[in-house]
Amino acid sequence: MGDMLFLLVPDEEWEPLKASWLDALVSHVEAEAVRHALNGYSVPLVRALGISPVGALHKIPHAYFLCREVACPSRDQRCNPLSKKCPLCYSLAGPFEGQTLLIANRVVEKWREGGYVIIWTGE
Ligand SMILES: [Zn+2]
Repeated sequence: MGDMLFLLVPDEEWEPLKASWLDALVSHVEAEAVRHALNGYSVPLVRALGISPVGALHKIPHAYFLCREVACPSRDQRCNPLSKKCPLCYSLAGPFEGQTLLIANRVVEKWREGGYVIIWTGE
């Protein structure tokens, strides 16, 4: 897979986020394509990829911008996940809760690293 970064999430774990705005921003891929990629043949996986990590960050609704650092220079305008001068302090404000919010934030962190988020389905 070269230098591409991925976060692989099994479909069952994604279940609580399926009806959310996040669902359209991740890549839904068959397990077989993931298996091929793990074995060095990434063409089917790359073909199945959706929107780019930066494109996905652009689509996060502004209402969900949140900063978790008191010292952040962007704190007054709410922290922007695309800001270059902002330290890694952005976190998603919602609308999720608990474990679902943790998963959603792992997704956003992977995008900020330049990685794709892949929800894999099937056996
Ligand atoms: Zn911040």
